[in-house]
Amino acid sequence: MDFLEVLNETAERVKKAVKPLLKSPIASRTYGVGAGGDSQKHIDLEAEKAIVDALQEQRLDFTLISEETGIQRYGRTPKYYVTTDPIDGTTNLLRGIPFACSSIAISVTPQLDNIEAGVVVDLFHNTTYLAQRGRGAFRNSEKVNPTQVDNLDDAVVGVDINSCEASQKLAKLLAQIKHVRHLGANALELCYVADGTMDGFIDIRGKLRTTDIAAAILVIQESGAIITTSKGAPLSSPLSPTATVDFIAAGNKRLHRRISTALGTDPRHVDPH
Ligand SMILES: [Mg+2]
Repeated sequence: MDFLEVLNETAERVKKAVKPLLKSPIASRTYGVGAGGDSQKHIDLEAEKAIVDALQEQRLDFTLISEETGIQRYGRTPKYYVTTDPIDGTTNLLRGIPFACSSIAISVTPQLDNIEAGVVVDLFHNTTYLAQRGRGAFRNSEKVNPTQVDNLDDAVVGVDINSCEASQKLAKLLAQIKHVRHLGANALELCYVADGTMDGFIDIRGKLRTTDIAAAILVIQESGAIITTSKGAPLSSPLSPTATVDFIAAGNKRLHRRISTALGTDPRHVDPH
């Protein structure tokens, strides 16, 4: 099975499903709380439905691990796991802040370090990030490369500060970065590190769900950028709507080390690959 083809087709379907809802009041209708714990909007469910429909039409039997409807089996003998956050950045999307995406990953086991292929679709722009294990990471079918910027004065670094408890180590890092950003859709922000749009991105809250990062982690790794936990270990976690991770991502090892050091992590961290 050509995972990239399947994911590309699925990405197109999500874009089509979401587009007419972008300026519709129905989009923000709330139906309760999703499996990941966030309030569930009409547009989130429509995006998930588009993903499931597209995968089923392409004859993929799979177990869905979704931020919205949780764990569901589709098909007779589900061989694959599809981990998705149908919309990452729903608040941005509903307010018209043009930074939101859909994230879909395929794996053969429900483990974050076992993703075979992933797609992150920018829902406002004509940009799709795709990655397949061992084959590289692509933006609209062009291979991406991360940045060589390796100092905190020049680096543009995303920091997830949502519901973030102020800590001394974070304060120390923020004091050293000149260009801090918080854009509001972590999967897409990670892809920005993969293609060098940004130089680093960290989330040390321990609140980021594996459904958000499942596709983007492969895009990051296949691009050659570095991602570890905040303690410098390889990221590994069961894939589930509630499992969470923290991470430091950077375009290159030197910048990763500088960010880690500023955060007080031992710079002799283990090799992230
Ligand atoms: Mg979501």
